[in-house]
Amino acid sequence: MITLNKYNFSAGPAILPEAVLQTAQAEMLDYNGIGSSVMTMSHRSDAFISILYHAEQDLRQLLHIPDNYKILFMQGGASAQFNMVVMNLANGFKRVDSVVSGNWSRIAHSQMGKLSNAQIHLAAHGGDLYNYTDVPSPENWDVDPNSAFVHYCINETVHGLQYRNIPKPEGMPPIVCDMSSEILSRPINVADFGVIYAGAQKNIGPSGATIVIIREDLLERCSDRIPDVWNYQSHISRQGMYNTPATYPIYISGLVFRWLQAHGGVEQIQALNTMKAETLYAAIDSSNGFYINHVKQQARSHMNVIFHTPEKELDKMFVQQANAHGLCALQGYKSIGGMRASLYNAMPIQGVEALVNFMREFQRRYG
Ligand SMILES: *Cc1c(COP(=O)(O)O)cnc(C)c1O
Repeated sequence: MITLNKYNFSAGPAILPEAVLQTAQAEMLDYNGIGSSVMTMSHRSDAFISILYHAEQDLRQLLHIPDNYKILFMQGGASAQFNMVVMNLANGFKRVDSVVSGNWSRIAHSQMGKLSNAQIHLAAHGGDLYNYTDVPSPENWDVDPNSAFVHYCINETVHGLQYRNIPKPEGMPPIVCDMSSEILSRPINVADFGVIYAGAQKNIGPSGATIVIIREDLLERCSDRIPDVWNYQSHISRQGMYNTPATYPIYISGLVFRWLQAHGGVEQIQALNTMKAETLYAAIDSSNGFYINHVKQQARSHMNVIFHTPEKELDKMFVQQANAHGLCALQGYKSIGGMRASLYNAMPIQGVEALVNFMREFQRRYG
């Protein structure tokens, strides 16, 4: 067994459990003794149908997804869902409510109105309110229970913001949530949501698969006029096989689900995720202002931790030298700069400890 002496802090496509990659490597040429790679088998073969079935069942078990919710593994990324949720769920409605709490929900907000007659109503804007140092509290969302739905992003990957307290559905229209960068990182009550979607490449698997979890009754809103490839109901009626699904990413996602089950599931991984995030934030907060994170305590993401030093030049040196120490992909998002450490499920606590040690050493030298 080769253990790579490197830690990958990329925001996405992101770190995957080494054990999963080793299984994939071992099965690359011959899956399960059938003499073919998962990559080269028909999506309608018994072997792949079984892979898809078990991936769905394992996800259902991990998130305790109730029976009245359907699961799809789609393509097009979370970005395609910005429009699909409107096309499928807002038909015949006048209004969609949209909460902007950071980069991704801002982009969603800008896209959702395309190809729709519904008004995309800005229910709250975390940039205007707090300059993205906090998330707009649900009490301050201007939503109408008669809207088609309210859309928000539970973890803002770029701004390092997370709804630590998950909004409750009382008084809300159905809640549609972008969970791309935190799904499976902590327990959620699926019944609080109308639709949950997530691109796989943050906390699940490789890019190419997008998870959509949808409450059954909402499928009645999907109009026949929506082209089948964009229509949730068409995909569900054909057991996720309307067209060729992203077979290999689904296979890897399935291996990740099994890995997570073997590690005690979402409840266990949450404890580890909390410890990792608290370790890193404590290092930032105890640096006497050398490392800075402006996010309010109650909205600090446990998945994507952003920070910077007092100088852009130092940030650049930090990223370069960290990389030379095997602490990879720490550069912040292109429009924000600084550093970003993504601490997804597959990041071991040793990675965070190595980062914190490096931060101390860097500060001792340049602080
Ligand atoms: C990465 C990301 C997206 C965009 O995902 P794509 O798969 O590139 O479309 C959307 N929302 C969130 C929260 C993300 O982290």
